[in-house]
Amino acid sequence: MTFAAPAESVHVRAPGKINVYLGVGGRHDDGYHALATVFQAVSLYEDVIARHADDFSLTVSGVDDPDSVPLDDRNLAMRAAKLLAAAADYHGGVALEIRKSVPVAGGMGGGSADAAAALVACDALWGTGFSTSRLHELAARLGADVPFALHGGTAVGTGRGDQLNPALARGRFDWVLVPSDQGLSTPLVYARLDALREEEGALADDPPLSLDVPIPVLQALRSGDPELLSESIYNDLQEAALHERPELETTILRGIHAGALQGIVSGSGPTVALLCANADAARAVQASLDEHGIESLHVHGPVAGARIIG
Ligand code: ATP
Repeated sequence: MTFAAPAESVHVRAPGKINVYLGVGGRHDDGYHALATVFQAVSLYEDVIARHADDFSLTVSGVDDPDSVPLDDRNLAMRAAKLLAAAADYHGGVALEIRKSVPVAGGMGGGSADAAAALVACDALWGTGFSTSRLHELAARLGADVPFALHGGTAVGTGRGDQLNPALARGRFDWVLVPSDQGLSTPLVYARLDALREEEGALADDPPLSLDVPIPVLQALRSGDPELLSESIYNDLQEAALHERPELETTILRGIHAGALQGIVSGSGPTVALLCANADAARAVQASLDEHGIESLHVHGPVAGARIIG
């Protein structure tokens, strides 16, 4: 491994995601559920700045509750940096600065975006020169959503959500996001889904261990028509998330009443994603939510994955 002339610092921006479609199948023996999902990267970004250091350290800003994000090896960005150092046989460290915009534990893959950004930033800082496919391989070891944060755009995830294939998506989709003050634990939402399925007697008809994304979802993405897409956005985790946070249903209904085409819980929640016909419609939805004292963000997708900026 050769190390090129290093930069003093590297600034990488990586997007959060919405699961436009999320089908959850049965649970494999390793505890992971079979998934068929469509990710869309949206214009809400995490910024990660990497600087040379002898050791590994991390600072985080942009969060209301500083205790919500771990600063040690539980942090996905820290794990990403250490994984890359081990893979590249790099013996120095890095000081990582994370500026968060994606809600923590919001179902938008903020931690995964940080990990993807840290991989790209450290690769450039250390002059590691890993290929894109090698970075993807390391990303997959960090978590199912991390390769997507590297990739960006719109992509289908199958298997355990980790088998990623680009999806054709034309045009731009406007979303209004309603974040929650309190995050929601992803394992808790999956456990709730299992419990609900058991109660409903789904055990008699086991959920499949291999799923596909329905064709109409892919056709709607290809058409670039938000109205068509609004007919097929879906999330199998939504019922479980609503069970934990019943008030999210009111938010979805309020968004639709305000003019959104459709609304879903993003991933494991609790962020609500409201699909709008265009940017003007999204601004109108925001204004209406604002009148009800509901804070929201207007984003669009698809956008690029983790990129060096500046
Ligand atoms: P998931 O990817 O599990 O669906 P999410 O998108 O809902 O998660 P994240 O913001 O990625 O939520 O964080 C989930 C949990 O992971 C947090 O509660 C936190 O304890 C931990 N975590 C680890 N690294 C990070 C990070 N860089 N930023 C935020 N949380 C992190």
